[in-house]
Amino acid sequence: MEQLVTSDFKLGIIAGGQLGKMLVLAASNWDVKTFILDTDDHCPASTCCTGFMKGNQLDYDTVIRFGSMVDMITFEIENVNIEALQKLKAEGKKIFPDTDTLAIIQDKGLQKEFYKNNNIPSPQFFLFKNKAEIIEAAETGAIPFPFVQKLRKGGYDGKGVAIIRRQNDLKNLLDGASLIEKLVEIHTEISVIVARNRNGETKCFPVAEMEFNEANMVEKLICPSSLDEKILHQANEIAMQLIASFNLCGLLAVEMFVDKNKEVWVNEIAPRPHNSGHHTIESVITSQYEQLLRAIFNFPLGSTLMKMPSVMINLLGEPDYEGPVKYEGLTDCMSIEGVKIHLYGKKITKPYRKMGHVTVLATSIEEAKKKADIVKQKLKVKSW
Ligand code: ADP
Repeated sequence: MEQLVTSDFKLGIIAGGQLGKMLVLAASNWDVKTFILDTDDHCPASTCCTGFMKGNQLDYDTVIRFGSMVDMITFEIENVNIEALQKLKAEGKKIFPDTDTLAIIQDKGLQKEFYKNNNIPSPQFFLFKNKAEIIEAAETGAIPFPFVQKLRKGGYDGKGVAIIRRQNDLKNLLDGASLIEKLVEIHTEISVIVARNRNGETKCFPVAEMEFNEANMVEKLICPSSLDEKILHQANEIAMQLIASFNLCGLLAVEMFVDKNKEVWVNEIAPRPHNSGHHTIESVITSQYEQLLRAIFNFPLGSTLMKMPSVMINLLGEPDYEGPVKYEGLTDCMSIEGVKIHLYGKKITKPYRKMGHVTVLATSIEEAKKKADIVKQKLKVKSW
């Protein structure tokens, strides 16, 4: 039996943002050494990891060098040089989730084809090479309005997505290889994070509901969801089916739409810890970060029972401030029962930059929502 939980074991984490930082903290509970690769030597995880390598995760030689320093690799972003990971894998390096899965998920077009081939419900789609092809298809009626355009690669937090309702919106199309998707009439956006270890044991975290702000970033995350049992069950089944279809070891965050007819559709997936699972640190018996470690070290998965209802809010940089960060309202918020504040340690704030998050625990979702609204009003990320 391999002994991975030891301070001799070096876990390499590609990128050191907030997700990497929270993963490092979970690993340190188990006396595992963590090594981070990031372009920014002041990234959030840099303050708590065992070793740090400055470099770009899209650069082949950098990823190869990083890989040679560690015993196992995982990642907190999808945008990683695949060829380098494939070479490391061929040489016997353990990489979880697997490189082939990452290659599919990096490309939203391949993601959609995977759903289609594996009978996963997801809105109907077409693939296009560029903007000109989309305009032509729209003008000839081959793709009916309204529709959603998504760049196949590199999008995040709604960047890389254009909603085209009518002819006049065609000017908003983005250029690049894209998929066009049917516009869903969304009732609720939900997320299920599912984990699977190397033995194939699989567990879902409770369904979370997501509310977005005008910048298309999650503003409030509510868990547990108040949707019908039937919908929640269906969402769990889809997440379990997806992770098994990929034969994935690690975490898979599955973002889904519940439409006006209460049908569930997969929007997109991420093979890593996810913003919609931050609350698990306090509200679930096992956090998503510990669960990822259990999965990749092939331990039994931890309980995903909720300890308390929770609402999570992202702490975003205020729209009009850019520069060295200053937090306002910390003392007031700390005095509210059940408020747990996480500051990521980013030195510079920018409009809508994710600077931290707050999880509010309460005996009911209604109470947690009320407290979260107070925190939202009082806690502000500004600059000097
Ligand atoms: P990102 O990867 O940038 O987060 P998403 O694919 O999640 O992009 O899309 C961002 C948002 O755009 C979604 O959260 C949803 O609100 C909206 N959206 C995306 N696809 C559709 C769709 N087919 N129908 C309706 N709204 C959509």
